[in-house]
Amino acid sequence: MGLIVQKFGGTSVGSVERIQHVAQCVYEEKEKGNDVVVVVSAMGKSTDQLVNLAKEISSQPSKREMDMLLTTGEQVTIALLSMALNQKGLEAVSFTGWQAGIVTEPVHGNARIIEIQTESIDAQLSAGKVVIVAGFQGITENGEITTLGRGGSDTTAVALAAALKADTCDIYTDVTGVFTSDPRFIKNARKLLSVSYDEMLELANLGAGVLHPRAVEFAKNYNVSLQVRSSMERIEGTVIEEEATMEQNLVVRGVAFEDEITKISVLGLTDSLTSLSTIFTTLAQNQINVDIIIQSTTEMGNANLAFSIKSDDLQETISVLEDHKELLGYGQLSAENKLAKVSIVGSGMISNPGVAAKMFEVLATNKIPIKMVSTSEIKVSAVVEERNMIRAVEVLHAAFELANIEAEVN
Ligand code: ADP
Ligand code: ASP
Ligand code: MG
Repeated sequence: MGLIVQKFGGTSVGSVERIQHVAQCVYEEKEKGNDVVVVVSAMGKSTDQLVNLAKEISSQPSKREMDMLLTTGEQVTIALLSMALNQKGLEAVSFTGWQAGIVTEPVHGNARIIEIQTESIDAQLSAGKVVIVAGFQGITENGEITTLGRGGSDTTAVALAAALKADTCDIYTDVTGVFTSDPRFIKNARKLLSVSYDEMLELANLGAGVLHPRAVEFAKNYNVSLQVRSSMERIEGTVIEEEATMEQNLVVRGVAFEDEITKISVLGLTDSLTSLSTIFTTLAQNQINVDIIIQSTTEMGNANLAFSIKSDDLQETISVLEDHKELLGYGQLSAENKLAKVSIVGSGMISNPGVAAKMFEVLATNKIPIKMVSTSEIKVSAVVEERNMIRAVEVLHAAFELANIEAEVN
């Protein structure tokens, strides 16, 4: 007998029928003799609907009240699933994040989990009950309700699996696993049988929305045995583990992409050393995340700087830079919008030189101009125009032969 954590995302609990289907999956796991903790998301698109309601009232709603509002979505699902399990003759109890002992840092909208006090869950499991926990929410030490960032129910599930020392954590979703690229956009994307924690972390951070990046971080740090699988079809999914075992000949295992990126250029910095540290400290103090940074020195001794941000942060970035113009000592400021980042990821890159060169060659052959580049040991990212994004992903997916892998198809 073991302990299994199962997580079901929005689509998987999107209707009464789907909730009844989830109850059946939980029932079958319980029948095998396992203890089960279930984490659920809000039904269907209900989180988006709550966000839209708030926007109708205020263009800049308080972050605390947003958390208060958004956490109601998951609360609906936990109660309904508990009722559905009762209907099947199973004893179940639903817990909000705070009832489950999920303590977070005091940040609204994107809080990190600090610890999980598992006593309440342990007690209910010992009493033979299925425990259902609301995803994506927690509580601060001062009793404030917080959320973990959009898509954060994955993180609730993996963090619970780590804290409860579960045998496995199954993430049930609307695709059959982790694919070589987003199957919604790339028709010949293939399901991978296995991905390493490091590769998955890069993919998730670079836009592959199938897993919340912090869930992968938890899984890696606590060695949680993690599987992404379909809530509709009973087939094997993708295992995320220390060393990916299958398809080892793949140098690139996936292509991720992200739109709504803006490039900011700051020209004519007089004292580049001080300006650089001041610019990025000031942006960080204003919670603006900077991604790729490029700096070059001109013959006149001045420096030019370019960096990328999420387009959502554009207005704030410009005002911060303009407000501090004198302190920062730059000449000109400009922004280029409607950009996207396309990234290839694979552990095989470490021992295979020339992967970045091949990426640039493929993009050049297809006449896709590159605006910025960044690399790490296991990824190469290129910023391109948004209108070229999907084509760039398609040609890279083809060039690195990802549609040809002999993994189980779809
Ligand atoms: P859930 O509501 O179950 O959490 P999400 O919408 O958050 O589901 O994540 C599943 C979606 O992730 C898929 O429908 C798919 O479009 C998208 N996705 C992006 N990249 C990938 C990838 N590499 N493999 C599989 N799915 C991906
Ligand atoms: N319901 C939340 C969202 O839509 C959390 C989640 O689904 O993981 O972002
Ligand atoms: Mg998700």
